[in-house]
Amino acid sequence: MTFWIDDEDLDGDTLREECGVFGVYDCADSAALATLGLHALQHRGQEAAGIVSFDGERFHADRHLGLVGDHFSKPSVIAGLPGRRAIGHVRYSTAGGMALRNVQPLFAELSSGGFSVCHNGNLTNARTLRRDLVEQGAIFQSTSDTEVILHLVAKSGRVQFIEKFIDALRQIEGAYSLVAMTNKKLVGARDPLGIRPLVLGQLEDSWILASETCALDIIGATYVRDVENGEVVVIDEAGLHSHRPFPPQRSRPCIFEYIYFARPDSVVGGHSVYDVRKKMGAELAREHAIEADVVIPVPDSGVPAAVGYAQASDIPFELGIIRNHYVGRTFIEPTQQIRQLGVRLKHSANRSQVAGKRVVLIDDSLVRGTTSVKIVQMMRDAGASAVHLLLASPPITHPDFYGIDTPDRSKLMAANHDIEGMRRLIGADGLGFLSIDGIYRAMGHAGRDAAHPQYTDHCFTGEYPTPLTDRDGDGAPGNRQLSLLAGAG
Ligand code: AMP
Repeated sequence: MTFWIDDEDLDGDTLREECGVFGVYDCADSAALATLGLHALQHRGQEAAGIVSFDGERFHADRHLGLVGDHFSKPSVIAGLPGRRAIGHVRYSTAGGMALRNVQPLFAELSSGGFSVCHNGNLTNARTLRRDLVEQGAIFQSTSDTEVILHLVAKSGRVQFIEKFIDALRQIEGAYSLVAMTNKKLVGARDPLGIRPLVLGQLEDSWILASETCALDIIGATYVRDVENGEVVVIDEAGLHSHRPFPPQRSRPCIFEYIYFARPDSVVGGHSVYDVRKKMGAELAREHAIEADVVIPVPDSGVPAAVGYAQASDIPFELGIIRNHYVGRTFIEPTQQIRQLGVRLKHSANRSQVAGKRVVLIDDSLVRGTTSVKIVQMMRDAGASAVHLLLASPPITHPDFYGIDTPDRSKLMAANHDIEGMRRLIGADGLGFLSIDGIYRAMGHAGRDAAHPQYTDHCFTGEYPTPLTDRDGDGAPGNRQLSLLAGAG
């Protein structure tokens, strides 16, 4: 979910959100299961969490700023969320906009009854839709673009809830994996390209919806299948039904889920994230063979690729950097200065594995370059005789508009420097990136299909797969004048 406060943020690095969603239908401990599921999805959002349950008569909601376990692990909190049905959300924003009113799931009473929804992704026309809705008299309670969906459902002229919901989906653009709930149904929906993940699972007779399979594993649920791109699944007393409101098209999941975002033990789109990351490391070894004594991952995100690199290159793998797991992400916000401090707090050199050695450092990606600069210096301070930095993804040259926190182009190191320029800024003896075809090979393809790319990879190519209506505008001055607007999450 993303929040935009002013026009700058359409290209800025503030207020972007990364999110995870979870839903359970018909289980005695639905809120406790949601808590566990959200805990497994905590890597997708660490600033706030919320759960809405339905007890057969009433909806109950609890939302909290902070980690899932800080609040929802309390028995009294779970006791306040009774019922056999629940949905939940975790969210992370890089700065600002963190108000309880923005914490999901959102809830509204519609003409068809209560409706609660939570969202992972980002709508690229939320600002435009919101302007129109406000002009028609809508009053928004939050700055979240997810609220745009609530309004669109509410004002749909259709009669049945699911028709209203689909009516709303037909008006939104961008990336969305939604989990929604009414007094009768649990609903999951994925955008026509399936940019963000969403899976379906079963726990005995109960149905589960979750951003990733790791949220099924934690509660012992069985993975049934992915919700498909452009699919709406509806679960109610009669079982599960699938709706396909969009013309069929090929899916284009976000490649960055595989590179960084998803948990390594998850299976996304049929691929083990860990296996794919290892293969990215092996491809990196093929593309960048280096004479070195040791392969060192930047923990934790670089570990699987470093294992793959070490195995493919036959260079020993060692933990030359130790990560302190007790540094919360709230520590690394929001200024560059604090971010740099955060890097020092988070990582320290394991001198015994570094001193006197030629080091190949592996990380999954380079965004601003902050981590790389610090870690390379840390290796030198620990006595490395040479430091090569390799990234298991191509240079990130373009911002994301689909629910991942990446900064505007002015802050993306690769958007502003060539490889040699970056190498000098980072202070490494060598710098290399995996090619875009290397990424696709790791995913099991011969390479990127330029005519019909298999994945959403705009961060590396600048090819955005949906209209960016808010960014590109419709020429209307009002589009530039709203002071409070929201993106999806
Ligand atoms: P930077 O220090 O800005 O170059 O960021 C690179 C580091 O941040 C790498 O270690 C990545 O694992 C991690 N990273 C990449 N993408 C993201 C993201 N969207 N949110 C938070 N961290 C990220």
